[in-house]
Amino acid sequence: MSRQLQARRTVSVCKNVWIEFTQLAADYKAVNLGQGFPDFSPPEFVQEAFCKAVSGGYQMHQYTRAFGHPPLVKILAKFFGRIVGHEIDPFEDVLVTVGAYQALFCTFQALIDEGDEVIIVEPFFDCYQPMVKMAGGKAVYIPLRPKVEGSTVLSSGDWVLSPEELASKFTPRTKAIVINTPNNPLGKVFKREELQMIADLCIKHDVLCISDEVYEWLTYDGNKHVKIASLPGMWERTITIGSAGKTFSATGWKVGWVISSGRNIQHMKIIHQNCVYHCPTAAQEAVARGFEREYELFGTPESYFQQLPAMLHQKREKLASCLQSVGLQPIMPEGGYFMISDISSVKVDLNDQSTKDEPYDFRFVKWLTKEKGLATIPVSAFYSPEHSTEFDKYIRFCFIKEDSTLNAAVDILRKWGQTQ
Ligand code: PMP
Ligand code: GLN
Repeated sequence: MSRQLQARRTVSVCKNVWIEFTQLAADYKAVNLGQGFPDFSPPEFVQEAFCKAVSGGYQMHQYTRAFGHPPLVKILAKFFGRIVGHEIDPFEDVLVTVGAYQALFCTFQALIDEGDEVIIVEPFFDCYQPMVKMAGGKAVYIPLRPKVEGSTVLSSGDWVLSPEELASKFTPRTKAIVINTPNNPLGKVFKREELQMIADLCIKHDVLCISDEVYEWLTYDGNKHVKIASLPGMWERTITIGSAGKTFSATGWKVGWVISSGRNIQHMKIIHQNCVYHCPTAAQEAVARGFEREYELFGTPESYFQQLPAMLHQKREKLASCLQSVGLQPIMPEGGYFMISDISSVKVDLNDQSTKDEPYDFRFVKWLTKEKGLATIPVSAFYSPEHSTEFDKYIRFCFIKEDSTLNAAVDILRKWGQTQ
């Protein structure tokens, strides 16, 4: 073919950090604290529910309702209605998607028009940017910055938005702001006052809030996840995104959802019905059973939403103390299952010519994977080109891993520490 083959809207969005670094980890058979997924099984009750669904008759192997399997949308509406403090209609206000990825895709495609501005809080889960672009929108960035109080910033809670800077990003063209709490990669859990500040601006400027809450159950040290949709005046203008992959430690099931007012959801349904149409039935059935169980056990020690963060808390401590001991100062995450660490004090010879034009953290992560056998993710991948050089001295570690995997990583870091 001699004519231009590639659609123009894909040209600037070809690079993908997961494709590149997951392959690198595999090629070097590295201990993998890179891509975020558990290297252990989901809880028994959802595995059993999945097996039961698969052997439960022909319906589980056929199409179900396009916008969400009825038992799943019903329990999502009941479960989240209780939390948000707003009645949720299972058939109008919920859309089940192929993971949170497709929830985000439907949201941007359905609500962002050519020329609309979308404010994105940095660091951000990388796909927001290409998705805004592919919808024809313009991304406008605002970074969380470490508070400059004292010399060391040790907690993700010390990274904050400047209210004045944020206010200055809203223009008559702003259609939406995207937030992610708990945040990937930083682990920040936005406080009620911080969310209120964002909500006030959304209301003042008549702007939507797209709230990615896939790590909502994973908070530590008494930090509480607050849903911005539950703040006064926010239900109608908030699009809340969730993922069974994170909720039940089953990232391969690819079940996600969007919850919002039916006024917003109706437009996302149009995108959904014209791309995937509906999601796999058996996985939705299993997720429905999981939520039904959690609805009954909510707030009790038997709830998986209590047990998983308790388990991850220990893993977080293990990784943090190891990083500290080798001089890779971690920023303690208040939530999620990632930890970022400052690499600026580490002296390594990054003289690999093949990476010399890349950001410092990309080169460092490649070196660590190839030379030491430990895979991580460069944090500047979670920033816009305009701010990435300011934040290329951090790398991200994933700690939702078996203790044996974490121990293998600790061994590598300690051995390396001794040679420094
Ligand atoms: N949002 C965030 C913040 C994420 O970390 C991820 C990672 N998977 C997603 C969305 C996508 O979730 P899913 O796997 O359910 O598509
Ligand atoms: N959300 C996961 C992470 O941040 C995985 C993303 C992906 O593989 N595309 O690591």
